[in-house]
Amino acid sequence: ATTGSSSLLAGLNPEQLAAVTAPPGPALILAGAGSGKTRVLTTRIAWLLQTGQATPASIMAVTFTNKAAKEMQARLSAMLPVNTRAMWIGTFHGLCNRFLRAHARIAGLPSAFQILDTQDQLSAVKRIIKALKYDEEKCVPKQTTWFIANCKEEGRRPKDIQPRDELGRMQLTVYQAYEDQCTREGVVDFAELMLRTYEIMRDHPEVRAHYQRRFKHILVDEFQDTNRLQYLWLKMFAGRPEETGNSLFAVGDDDQSIYAFRGAQVGNMADFEREFRVPKVVKLEQNYRSFGHILDAANTLIAQNSKRLGKNLRTDAGQGEPIRVYEASSDYAEAQWIVEEARLLHREGHPLHEVAVLYRSNAQSRVIESALFNAGVAYKVYGGLRFFERAEIKHALAYLRLIENPNDDTSFLRVVNFPARGIGARSVELLQDAARSTGRSLAQSVTAVPGKTGANLQGFVALVDAMRECTRGLTLRQIIEHVVEASGLADFYRAEKEGQERLENLAELVNAAEAFVTQEGFGKDAVALPVDESAGAISEGLPAAVALANTLPDAETGEIISPLLAFLTHASLEAGDNQAQAGQDAVQLMTIHAAKGLEFNNVFLTGLEEGLFPHENSMNTTEGLEEERRLMYVAITRARQRLNICFSQTRMLHGQTRYNIKSRFLDELPEASLKWLTPRNQGFGSGFAKSYQDAWSSGRGMGSMVGAGAQPYRQGGQGGQGAYGGGSRGGYGGQAWGGARKEDTFKDLTAP
Ligand code: ATP
Ligand code: MG
Repeated sequence: ATTGSSSLLAGLNPEQLAAVTAPPGPALILAGAGSGKTRVLTTRIAWLLQTGQATPASIMAVTFTNKAAKEMQARLSAMLPVNTRAMWIGTFHGLCNRFLRAHARIAGLPSAFQILDTQDQLSAVKRIIKALKYDEEKCVPKQTTWFIANCKEEGRRPKDIQPRDELGRMQLTVYQAYEDQCTREGVVDFAELMLRTYEIMRDHPEVRAHYQRRFKHILVDEFQDTNRLQYLWLKMFAGRPEETGNSLFAVGDDDQSIYAFRGAQVGNMADFEREFRVPKVVKLEQNYRSFGHILDAANTLIAQNSKRLGKNLRTDAGQGEPIRVYEASSDYAEAQWIVEEARLLHREGHPLHEVAVLYRSNAQSRVIESALFNAGVAYKVYGGLRFFERAEIKHALAYLRLIENPNDDTSFLRVVNFPARGIGARSVELLQDAARSTGRSLAQSVTAVPGKTGANLQGFVALVDAMRECTRGLTLRQIIEHVVEASGLADFYRAEKEGQERLENLAELVNAAEAFVTQEGFGKDAVALPVDESAGAISEGLPAAVALANTLPDAETGEIISPLLAFLTHASLEAGDNQAQAGQDAVQLMTIHAAKGLEFNNVFLTGLEEGLFPHENSMNTTEGLEEERRLMYVAITRARQRLNICFSQTRMLHGQTRYNIKSRFLDELPEASLKWLTPRNQGFGSGFAKSYQDAWSSGRGMGSMVGAGAQPYRQGGQGGQGAYGGGSRGGYGGQAWGGARKEDTFKDLTAP
């Protein structure tokens, strides 16, 4: 190292120093959480630049999330004056996107090509299956979508496939037609970004030579979570080291491999070591992130996994505070407690962005968001939209708005052809022309459109009218349940590969409505009042939220408004402005998957309940359970100073009340590192015991109780009907998760 680099290298421990300043060549750093892997990777880039061994343009760094890429760029700029734009720093998808934009012509793409999300992809496949007149029962659209994605991830194009049976032939034909259509429209899906880049590198020697000459240093963070194609892709850029002289520098932690369900292969680490003849795998065991109690907990927990490469973490930072454990009576109370603790921390001088709330599945965020919102605490949700901004929720709200106000044109346009009912863009244009010429709303103008198009449009209006009729006099909960079904939204998402999470969110919408009704004092039996016919007139030309607010009676007159209308207003306001503004200090909300690689002074880890974490779909196999445990290890090791773990006796999830027992992971933590804020329960949560007694003493549906003791947790009946009101609904293996595929477990996880 030159003298100029000494400040860069100051403070590194000997192992880190050796890794940062390693001679060119393949390198693998295998080390636990918080041991400085990312710091070593970033510092190595800075050191290579500062010592003149590399130019910015010769560096490619692959991170796992966009947030991580931004942080790396920021750290590099802070370390030395450097043009980070000349470097390629980003996720695999981000880098592929950059590559394909630069080589659009060779890739056969328009330079402004669009990226299809999974939802678009499924609709495209459905259209193709229909056009080919295949039986959807045989050639199931979502399975076909999987088939296509898997083929692409294995690098197989239609021509590489030998169908073995009738179904195989059909899927292959769809795959081919899908490819043709994507090419015609100039769009690519996520798997295509990777595969197309890989193929161009493979098939165009001049392009390959260019990039292999250019990127002398390829550095990969979170290497344990790369899949097969990503590894091949990296090899394509690196080339044969003895020919190109390029260095592939990989850092990873087998204990943090949490994407096996998406095809990630920990085995890539061993392959890399062998194929590139990595001279010596570097291990780092000193942890710089967390205090002792937190590390003890992480070490003790992960030691219970059998498949490990084996390493331990130690710290010089002292034990710090014990991990606080809190048992709440309900998910609502859990959220309340978090909010109070967060405010306390804030008052003590902790910035809000050093407070993170982590959860296993996205559906948990709504209650927490709502509690933060009500308390006026700014928050930011990462890796996912806030609840009321999610597409499926907006679709459902649009139908509800149309029930309240048929002339809400924004809502009309949002769902007139969602789910698809054969009303194309051209039909909508005709309708808009008709509405414009008469100055009436879209719904009022459907009769002015002639022919089949007009009939389709009238059918849509009739559908909404029928929903309005059917829901008259129902409770808010019943209204929403009816609309989700009658609109076809539920069926649509049931048929989708990624639909499980959306269905769960729609069930959450019912919960949200119920909570709202209770809070606002509408009472359980509140009914929707007849629609105010004047509402439509007011709404014209105004944004929906304003129009709704205008139809609300003055609070002082005490006039009763319909719970639906009040709820819709609440939803528009919550969607509007409670998310932290850019740069504003805010509590950080995200799934554990999205938190990988990040760190916070204060962490709240929520929902430590059997069935939720470990997740019910993963806890019955050793493999699944070990991946859940790694996820728990990731979660614990995000905390620097204070870790809080909480769980709840009851939880509304997917529209059902569940009675929980605490997660086995709590029992796997060292008692000496825990501080229980609530009395420690043995076995069943006290909420379970109490409900059991209630159910018993009230003589209600005990049928489903039989055998409950053998199951780790139970699912109650519909909220408000008593714990075990619906015997057929209760019980393990019930409809909520009985038929779920393994893949569905992860639908509610955040994509990196
Ligand atoms: P993860 O596995 O969670 O991604 P990691 O191994 O990448 O963790 P880093 O995020 O690089 O760990 O480092 C964890 C924390 O420790 C960071 O705040 C980093 O700045 C700090 N750190 C790393 N090495 C040192 C060191 N030698 N001296 C002081 N602090 C350090
Ligand atoms: Mg890291």
